[in-house]
Amino acid sequence: MNAQAEELLKCTSRELLGTMVWDLIPGSMETPLYHKAIEAAQAGKVFLCEYYSSRLNIWLQAHIYPDPARLMVYLQDITRYKLAATALLKSEERFRTSVDSLLDSFYIHSAIRDSSGKIVDFRVEYANKAASTSTRMPREEQIGQGLFAMFPWLSQTGLFEEFCKVVETGAPFSTDAFIFPVEYQGQHLKRIAEIRVVRLGDELISAWRDITERKEIEEELKASEARLKRLVESNIIGVIFVEGKYIVDANDAFLEMVGYTREDLNEGPLNWWHMTPAEYIEIDQNAAQEIARSGVSPLIEKEYYRKDGSRVPVLLRSAQLSGKSGVCFILDISDQKELERRKDAFISIASHELKTPLTSLKAMLQLARRRIEKQPGYDARDYLAKMDQQINTLTRLVNDLLNVSKIQAGKLEYLQEIIDIDELVYEIVEDFQHLAAAHHRVSVTGTTQQKIVGDRDHLRQVFGNLLTNALKYSPQAGQVEVSLSASQNTVTVSVHDYGIGISKELQEKIFECFYRANATESAALPGLGIGLYIAQEIVRQHGGTIGVESASAQGSTFSVTLPLGREDRVAENYVPPKSSYFL
Ligand code: ADP
Repeated sequence: MNAQAEELLKCTSRELLGTMVWDLIPGSMETPLYHKAIEAAQAGKVFLCEYYSSRLNIWLQAHIYPDPARLMVYLQDITRYKLAATALLKSEERFRTSVDSLLDSFYIHSAIRDSSGKIVDFRVEYANKAASTSTRMPREEQIGQGLFAMFPWLSQTGLFEEFCKVVETGAPFSTDAFIFPVEYQGQHLKRIAEIRVVRLGDELISAWRDITERKEIEEELKASEARLKRLVESNIIGVIFVEGKYIVDANDAFLEMVGYTREDLNEGPLNWWHMTPAEYIEIDQNAAQEIARSGVSPLIEKEYYRKDGSRVPVLLRSAQLSGKSGVCFILDISDQKELERRKDAFISIASHELKTPLTSLKAMLQLARRRIEKQPGYDARDYLAKMDQQINTLTRLVNDLLNVSKIQAGKLEYLQEIIDIDELVYEIVEDFQHLAAAHHRVSVTGTTQQKIVGDRDHLRQVFGNLLTNALKYSPQAGQVEVSLSASQNTVTVSVHDYGIGISKELQEKIFECFYRANATESAALPGLGIGLYIAQEIVRQHGGTIGVESASAQGSTFSVTLPLGREDRVAENYVPPKSSYFL
């Protein structure tokens, strides 16, 4: 027993020499060394064994050489080697698990050379799970095979040459547009892969990722971007891209609309908030709320300040792109606005022009009527009364037209008079009783016994329009009924007819300006489509509401509800009524 053995076994030769080693060293009879030593002695053969000594807490390697009289044992501490081997095993296992869990295909190849040393293929040394899934070939079948022999189509892609270059130069190769054919269920499909190849020692590592779907999405995105770009650059419509309050990009159509140059835009983003006149801020804020809610703004009409301070009217719709960024489509409606302005001016001038001769016609007719009635012998009363009626109708139409232009210009003035609503309604009904055709009967029921504050002439026009319609749109029916009622704070006047009625979907539309239902029965009857629009405007200005209940061929009931009059709401500059509904 030498000194190294003493140190290794942690006992001295004096203690051990001449004793039974196995008795002296506790637990030694349980070690493989004991069994192997017996075996070696019996067989007379050399044995090698490795074992872990729990007493010494080390790994030992023992070479046992028997000869007839004794055994020679060479012991070596192999703990360090054992630990390193375990670590290696662990790390290899880690590598395999990681590589197997990759979604990308992963290969290790080594070059196969012919007798002249020329590379002819690349042997698959290792393939991960994804490699067998994507090629639909078990990896066991791939390992050991030449890659290009196994997949002959690969040779036509130029990849073999790239592999050779990596071996020769050591420079990695990568591409994100490797196109390869795949046959799937009888169909030839084109797939696209991303490939990276690196040299590691004398081997190559290749990683493959099928990016066909990603590429297709990218292509689609590119195409849709190109379409959008074409739309933006076509300048058919103004397009701006905004970030919060700033215009970060705009097409020429928009810049031209607002009189800015591209340089102005490039110098710093334009602030569309500053380009918006104060009266449109609220509209913009409402639109912003709607965008936050639904992602899209309603169609809004507004104005922008141009660079020179003038205004440009526009029609605009915005959509959120993400967070605070959005896109707006803007149409310059200056031409339409100008046309509208001219049309309004025309209506206003035309109705003024028509009113003057009508007024004098009416006055002269009354004069003539008085004179003729005094003359005996010739009775022209009927003719004169009919002329008077026609003039009244014409006057009503002209008044309606004039009022429309005043309403639209915000110039219709309202007086604040105390009005006995019962008296007013009964008076109007009486007028219409005279006017109505022979087969019509206009009746009134109920009272409110209330007073309201408002403009007598304008309210006269409201009820007049409702009664005119009730008679006009019930040519076959005999009865038109007006009823009056009151609640604690309101009075309601309803006009009910048994005429052609109005379908549900038209009931909101009929209050729009110039709207006429084009159902055959109503289109055949004369009208300008402004009576209900005026009525609604006037009622709204009085703080009231107007509504309709009807169904096709079921007659209609139009109801006007007005708030009760409060004396303190009457303006100080009270003006007494000046004219009747018919001049
Ligand atoms: P106008 O009668 O001159 O066409 P209005 O503004 O008074 O214009 O009415 C708008 C439309 O509403 C009419 O064209 C008609 O189709 C419908 N309408 C109004 N009143 C009635 C009613 N009492 N019965 C049926 N339809 C009506």
